[in-house]
Amino acid sequence: MNAGRTYLDYNATAPLRPEARAAVVAALDTFGNASSVHAEGRRARALIETARMEVAALAGASPRDVIFTSGATEAANAVFERAWQTLFVSAVEHPAVMAPAQRCGADLHVIPVDASGRIDVGALAGSLDHVLADSSRRPADTLIAVQYANNETCVVQPIAAIAALAHERGTRVMVDAVQAAGRLEIEQRALGIDYMVLSSHKIGGPQGAGALVVVNEAKLNALVVGGGQERGRRAGTENVAAVVGFAAAAAAARREVGDVTRLAAMRDRLEVGLRAATPDAIVIGGDAERHANTSLVARPGWPAETAVIALDLAGLSASAGAACSSGKTSRSPVLAAMGLDDDIAKCAVRFSLGWATTEDDVSRCIEAWQRLARKRNGERLVA
Ligand code: PLP
Repeated sequence: MNAGRTYLDYNATAPLRPEARAAVVAALDTFGNASSVHAEGRRARALIETARMEVAALAGASPRDVIFTSGATEAANAVFERAWQTLFVSAVEHPAVMAPAQRCGADLHVIPVDASGRIDVGALAGSLDHVLADSSRRPADTLIAVQYANNETCVVQPIAAIAALAHERGTRVMVDAVQAAGRLEIEQRALGIDYMVLSSHKIGGPQGAGALVVVNEAKLNALVVGGGQERGRRAGTENVAAVVGFAAAAAAARREVGDVTRLAAMRDRLEVGLRAATPDAIVIGGDAERHANTSLVARPGWPAETAVIALDLAGLSASAGAACSSGKTSRSPVLAAMGLDDDIAKCAVRFSLGWATTEDDVSRCIEAWQRLARKRNGERLVA
């Protein structure tokens, strides 16, 4: 962690865990190609296969279902390589899912969310039935894509009910579990989720690693073709160091799953502190079921971009909504889908906590916010 700074932007990237760093460093000395038959190759292969078991455990999947990729964006893109006929994609998906869904040429239906950011499963069933009533529609070529937890609000979707609905109707289901992995208990096999995407750097592993977890029966057209790596489902020499770092982070994160008490207590103290300093501040998604690590707070009149710069100058890293793509802060489609007024949405500052967050970080964040609040009326947040 950078000395003197407070990092509350885990949903963009979590700090590298010491276990992951140690695994990466050790693996960098493993120079074998995992496809080679000699001792060095076999050693690299063994590292990858052990990592596969660890990542499978994180997803509640079978190791044979795990395909290592360069990250969740690549994993999600691969899902849309298949010739889908009909797509149902939630309005609050990350661009890693929404963009390939829009590009793939299938008939796209956007699943709305309510004011708290949740999907109404009954309404989804109604739309699905309406579309599938057309006899030319093939349920097996229909995909429902829904994220587990949102990257801006961390509001959790009713995944079990959506997976059950998909089974009843004979469609496929894809879950972006990037912001849920290592935070919630995930049971991909038990729920029968056909495709799941995971990312290493959100759980304290290195950037540039992730996985697509595909239940065997689900069809997949490889996005990257060439060699026969990953059983022909993702060509290219494996990035052994990134994969083992991902697995080490997965193992550490899995030990923390369900232990939300620590994070929830800090998140709650943070929200109480921020609202005490600025009583007109709104906690977006605060009434919905959400994971305890995220707080999306908007103070009307404080544009998020300016607030984030002011906080940065005060030594604190937060983000203006979803800032994982080139720091851009355009209007959030997630908040628009929740029907949030533009004037509030543009003030949404995201604080996201994680494995290394301390009570002191929370105190420093509250103090920084209080200092902003003390600025005289009309005085700019950033001088
Ligand atoms: N899905 C969600 C919900 C995310 O938050 C992100 C990253 O911010 C991604 C997908 C993309 O992950 P990656 O950076 O591994 O490509």
